[in-house]
Amino acid sequence: MTAPRFKNMEIEPEIQGATRYQKVSYPIRYGLYGEIRTKGYIFGYNRNGEIKTIRGRSGGWLETAEWLKRSAGNDWAYFSAGGYNGAYNYTGEYYVPCLPYQTNAIFGHGKFDSPEVKKAFAAWHELAEKLPGMDRNGLSEKQAALIGRIIGTPPRRLEKRGKELHGIIGGPVTVLPPETRHVEYDVIPLRIADGCLYNCGFCRVKSGGGFRVRSREDITGQIHALRDFYGDDRVNYHSVFLGEHDALFAGSERIGFAAQTAWDVLDIGQSVMADPRLFLFASANSLLRADDTVFSLLNGLPFYTHINVGLESGDPETLSLLQKPISAQKVGDAFSRMIEINHAYPSIEVSANFVVGADLPETHLPSILDLTGNRLERFYPKGDIYLSPLENIGPKERLLNTFNEFKRLCRLPAYLYLIQRL
Ligand code: SF4
Repeated sequence: MTAPRFKNMEIEPEIQGATRYQKVSYPIRYGLYGEIRTKGYIFGYNRNGEIKTIRGRSGGWLETAEWLKRSAGNDWAYFSAGGYNGAYNYTGEYYVPCLPYQTNAIFGHGKFDSPEVKKAFAAWHELAEKLPGMDRNGLSEKQAALIGRIIGTPPRRLEKRGKELHGIIGGPVTVLPPETRHVEYDVIPLRIADGCLYNCGFCRVKSGGGFRVRSREDITGQIHALRDFYGDDRVNYHSVFLGEHDALFAGSERIGFAAQTAWDVLDIGQSVMADPRLFLFASANSLLRADDTVFSLLNGLPFYTHINVGLESGDPETLSLLQKPISAQKVGDAFSRMIEINHAYPSIEVSANFVVGADLPETHLPSILDLTGNRLERFYPKGDIYLSPLENIGPKERLLNTFNEFKRLCRLPAYLYLIQRL
């Protein structure tokens, strides 16, 4: 019996996508990748032959402009274009990632239960099973090499790859900073510290342990292992997330060492993507403790740095309800420091998170508006404010109306936080 040929299938092994992340209302692919196009689907593969994206081509697909994307942690997200009036207004993005796991209750329920998405996964599995038995005669060298790489990373191997990544950094990334949306969540995670300072009662992403800075040796070991893990696909990454929940508290020496070593060993300067970024979380304490040495260091790095600080509320009653052990005074001071840093350092942008939900005191929202509206004499384009929905958001429409009213009065850009893990 002769092996089946690659009939009705187009194989494009090396496509150069966009080299700069953009906010556009049409589907766009980034970096270097390969594709197999069948009648029903376009399957995108990274430089290691791992599936990266799936997009339906026929009317049976939910929306032809939407797509599924797999992360290095082996999660899938469905990037949805329609269905949410004003997605850009709410999230700052034209495409909203809908996730198959529990996150906030606003966007993207049920996408993974839809017959179209189930069929897309079935088609991918079917293709993965078929490829090893197919006759590669007649393919170009590059096409055959791509098929070989794809065969080497079947779906069951990808599951292991996700675990491998988590093993390197010491566990899954339970939450990415909101600004990683600017690079479509394509970041290399590197853990320079574990835990956080407060272990707040309301928080669903905390590790629960105390705060601990990783040693230089540990960080170096992670970076070398990450270099091997991302392999040939490293060329598509130009952004690093310094974890875990309060990397700023690790101090300037450890931050500078980690960022520079990552830059050198991961060859970030050789990435095909332009405008490298560094992401980290901070707390009110770490932001207030950090002096100009830290910010001058970050400002001098080859990355543009995003620091996201969790403030939650400016209202004492709400902070107490959330079991966040800091004072409203400290929240106000941290907010003022954020504004100062954003003025002083062109290559650093600090953003802040506040919570929203149905069960919060009436004094909560006015307290945030006092900081982000009344306290500022004009609109500032730098320093996003993210509203992070709690478990109980109440009626969705009411929350979105509250958000719109907040956005109107806030003198900084405001968005909803789409919590995503890696
Ligand atoms: S909100 Fe931030 S500081 Fe509080 S427990 Fe969660 S991660 Fe830690």
